[in-house]
Amino acid sequence: MRYDIAIVGSGPAGMAAALNAKIRNKNIIVFGNRNGSDKLIKAPSIDNYLGIYDVSGKELRDRFKAHIEEMGIEITEERINNVYDMGGYFVLAVGDKMYESATVIIATGVQYGQKIKGEEEYLGKGVGYCATCDAGLYRDKIVAVVGYNHEGEEDANFLSEIASKVYYIPMYKLTNALDSSIEIINDRPLEVKGEKTVNKLVLKNTELCVDGIFIIKDSVSPGYMVPGLEVEGPHIKVDREMKTNIEGLYAAGDCAGKPYQYLKSAGEGQMAVSSAISHLDKLRINQMSLQK
Ligand code: FAD
Repeated sequence: MRYDIAIVGSGPAGMAAALNAKIRNKNIIVFGNRNGSDKLIKAPSIDNYLGIYDVSGKELRDRFKAHIEEMGIEITEERINNVYDMGGYFVLAVGDKMYESATVIIATGVQYGQKIKGEEEYLGKGVGYCATCDAGLYRDKIVAVVGYNHEGEEDANFLSEIASKVYYIPMYKLTNALDSSIEIINDRPLEVKGEKTVNKLVLKNTELCVDGIFIIKDSVSPGYMVPGLEVEGPHIKVDREMKTNIEGLYAAGDCAGKPYQYLKSAGEGQMAVSSAISHLDKLRINQMSLQK
């Protein structure tokens, strides 16, 4: 099935986009987290959301969630690894699973915090962001997984079936069970080292000799996710209609630039949908003239 609009992200930008697309009767799919977004719930008290004040991030999230559930919008709990422009439509990849959509809205937020030194240099040369995509390259090899969230555990468990040795470095409070073969290292990663490809992960107190390193974050850099996408630092370059340099692909929310705010993100989600709908109309008119 080809969707009209695929929305990647379920924070305020993604949820506002979903809501407006649904009101316009579009066939949509929303990828993200059924609980909204981890960032959305972090604010202790919010006073700058028009009409909803003196609420915690969690209360605001509950209201957003109730609203989209009331509209019958479901969130597909899958992490998009790549979005490919096929010329006229897009393919969204989750491991080896593919989704098709005529337009795409990227609303993935921004990843706070620094990259590990050497992460970018060795990206694709031993550093990866998706174990389900690249695990096959590490059969009988040694890998480290730096997990920023619980999804890192799933990836580490999956890798333990393929690699000869898996180290897991949790960057959060680890609670869930990992396969007993996985060695947990409670330390801070400082640098990725190697020659042509990765051979070492340097941590604050130790060094690990590895063939590959998977870094599992809440969001990956948009330039990595969408080949050919124009970015400015950590942000996707957009115009006032939230259009990117790729026709049919839009960005909204924190990933489209500062200030990082709920209301700005929600407004941009709405704008992105409006632009996506204009593009869908254009595609429909082109299709009709071809059929004549
Ligand atoms: P996010 O909320 O970051 O949501 C991004 C979503 O995309 C997440 O669901 C994530 O899981 C999903 N995602 C990422 N990558 C993928 C992928 N590859 N596939 C599928 N899904 C993906 N703002 C205010 O206006 N007022 C405040 O008082 C305020 N206080 C804050 C306090 C704290 C402590 C923090 C951290 C932020 C605060 N903010 C505040 C900022 C606000 O949280 C953000 O601006 C807002 O959440 C951004 O919304 P977003 O939809 O762009 O991104």
